[in-house]
Amino acid sequence: MTPQSTRQSLTQIAKLIGNSIKLACETRPLVSMLQEAVRCSRRAEGVEYAIRDVIVKAEEVRRTGKRIINLNIGDPVKYGFDTPPHIKEAMKKAVDSGKNYYSASEGVKELREAVAEKENTANHAHIEASNIVITQGISEAITFLMAAMVNPGDEILVPGPCYSPYLTYAKFFDGTPITYRTKEEEGWAPDLDDLESKITEKTRLIVVINPSNPTGSVYSKQELSRILEIAASHNLPVAADEIYDRITYEDKFTSVASLAKETPILGLNGFSKAYLMTGWRLGYIYVQDPTGRLKHVWDGIEKMSRVRLCASTPAQIAGVAALTGPQTHIPEMVRKLKERRDFALKRIRAIPRFSATTPKGAFYNFPKVDLQGTRWSNDNQFVTELLKETGVLTVHGSGFDPTYGSGHFRSVFLADEPMLAEAFDLIESFMKQHS
Ligand code: PLP
Repeated sequence: MTPQSTRQSLTQIAKLIGNSIKLACETRPLVSMLQEAVRCSRRAEGVEYAIRDVIVKAEEVRRTGKRIINLNIGDPVKYGFDTPPHIKEAMKKAVDSGKNYYSASEGVKELREAVAEKENTANHAHIEASNIVITQGISEAITFLMAAMVNPGDEILVPGPCYSPYLTYAKFFDGTPITYRTKEEEGWAPDLDDLESKITEKTRLIVVINPSNPTGSVYSKQELSRILEIAASHNLPVAADEIYDRITYEDKFTSVASLAKETPILGLNGFSKAYLMTGWRLGYIYVQDPTGRLKHVWDGIEKMSRVRLCASTPAQIAGVAALTGPQTHIPEMVRKLKERRDFALKRIRAIPRFSATTPKGAFYNFPKVDLQGTRWSNDNQFVTELLKETGVLTVHGSGFDPTYGSGHFRSVFLADEPMLAEAFDLIESFMKQHS
């Protein structure tokens, strides 16, 4: 092409563009063109969190004037279990005495030491303060874990059903969460044959949530030891979410770290449930890794902690008071919760088409609904209609895993007996009317 013909072609192209803009402006005001919706990123578009997504539906129902009874969120503080006074005092004192700065990214030294002490004495782990990173709740620890473990195409084994952020963040980092079956008929115990059969050359990590959200199962020492054997024989690390370690009823809690020998463990725990500090956003992740196989992963987790600066400094100082101060509120809370669990179970088991195992830890019921021959084609539809008609808000089981959670719903038994009674009266008449 000669320079002259290039110039001519460019002039023609410019004319064409000019004409198209003119035409578009004549048919559509320029402002509306500029305001066209901006595309959301593929990653953010795929994010789901059933436990809070249902609140959007509940808001719509509330606007129609109906009273909502919330049985959806695992926040004991919202149901009258108050943060113990010595923890509140420590937070106030920290704020008043000017501890309002950014802390070290890995966390306040005294808190990391107190966490190591707690994990080593109460849960028989073998860690030091330097093996701990303090996070903004376990929620942030889950993102660190997945960010540091998952490359595109990697598979993460998680229990089915599962606390859903593990599914969400495995996908967010372009991995694939694979759920291993937990057996409802055996109180949602892990199906160890299923777990082992799902290990492939792409598997990077086995996740254990014990006690379980949403099923309330508490894994036995034998089950945990067998999971560790499987992990060892496939050279895999284990991540253990033990946020409900202090909230068990009949069965005794055993930490994964206490049973692990050489298998590397990433432990996740926090202050939301046992210390009633949900809104303060405080948790931690630790590594127990005698052979140093997770060195690079841990470096990655520490780097992630630096880029988000730190967890709330006053909350961390209150965390020290939580771990080192009086613990008497915990047995008292567990006693109350056990009564509420028994009451909720009795009511659930008396409702047509419902069946439920006994939760041995945490504060969730995960009843099965026999949907066959009913007007509801799935658990999501069931939960939505229950909400619209009665105002009782629960979470559909498929939100915790479409394979092993569907046909169920999750309801918390944190509410006091009058509130639970009101909710179950409504659910019972709904079921009697429609099934
Ligand atoms: N892990 C499990 C198993 C949970 O059930 C929850 C909250 O319900 C979390 C983590 C979130 O904890 P945090 O408040 O520490 O972010």
